[in-house]
Amino acid sequence: MSAAPLKSDLPVVQDTFGRPLRSLRLSVTDRCNLRCNYCMPEEEYTWLPRETLLTFEEMTTLTEFFTELGVDKVRLTGGEPLLRKDLPTLMRMLRRNPRITDLALTTNGVLLAEQAQAFYDAGLHRVTVSLDTLKPERFKALTRRDMFESVLKGIEAVGQAGFKGLKLDTVAIRGYNDDELTDLIEYGKRMEAEVRFIEYMDVGGATDWSMDKVFSRQAILALLEQRYGHIEPVIEDSSAPAQRFSLPDGTTFGIISSTTVPFCSTCDRSRLTADGMWFLCLYATQGVDLRQSLRAGVSRDEIKARILAGWQGRADRGAERRKELEPLGIRARLVEIERLREDPRLEMHTRGG
Ligand code: SF4
Repeated sequence: MSAAPLKSDLPVVQDTFGRPLRSLRLSVTDRCNLRCNYCMPEEEYTWLPRETLLTFEEMTTLTEFFTELGVDKVRLTGGEPLLRKDLPTLMRMLRRNPRITDLALTTNGVLLAEQAQAFYDAGLHRVTVSLDTLKPERFKALTRRDMFESVLKGIEAVGQAGFKGLKLDTVAIRGYNDDELTDLIEYGKRMEAEVRFIEYMDVGGATDWSMDKVFSRQAILALLEQRYGHIEPVIEDSSAPAQRFSLPDGTTFGIISSTTVPFCSTCDRSRLTADGMWFLCLYATQGVDLRQSLRAGVSRDEIKARILAGWQGRADRGAERRKELEPLGIRARLVEIERLREDPRLEMHTRGG
């Protein structure tokens, strides 16, 4: 592999809104060992055929193409990524790419306790664990799996392995866990983790979504201000989805408010499904099939040209468009169940959230 120029030498590739191609969410599997109601509420799912899943070599090659066009942040996602065997091998392969300055992982934590050390040793930079409740019975009700204790052990293993900057992602749902937000903040303090509250999103697969279940950014701030006092926004130049805030004691937390206060204007993220479909937005219904090109022997430069053209033509702002439907009273389920059965790539769990 020729020593391609590092980031500073690369031209910034921008979309039609001037947003740079910077962050790639790489789904390594569409399978999951939980059934969180806000993501996988149905009993039956159509899975991606195993033979269509990218190999680690194919993932590494495609990621290289993206990094040669400006990507420097890669997040491993799923489904549940730890269901993909031998993940440390992929991490080591990606870490050989000097242009990847931030390699992160989002997991539900169920299988993390056994693997955290191997991830650390393989060069993973950061870990985010989904944790929506501290109540075992509620966890079971939400996920339809009795795996709460495994998740807590997984979270503990992150710090023990040597990782810093652990993040805990909590989907805040009205009437479900809005009475636990301060407990989750306190738990985060004990685990030296930053909690990010995520508004319930009407993405593909969220077939149980409705606006009255959304516990908004405004409601979250009001509730936390009542408990902790004045909350300060953290001023920082970041394209990360979470807006961060600081409590009077300096504890920081984040809010990802895609439903009520969308942040599409700074979105530098795109997603590659485990079978190589490239989506320019979480709400996009059409993608670019990079696996087919790669397996058909299309040249490196030709595939990079397709990625370049795809990004330069990008005008996606899915969450903003969803919000524009509200005054019209037509903001409801994004994709019907029958359509999801036909094309599982429309499901959020195939594109890694
Ligand atoms: S909705 Fe689409 S454009 Fe908006 S922040 Fe999410 S992925 Fe980016």
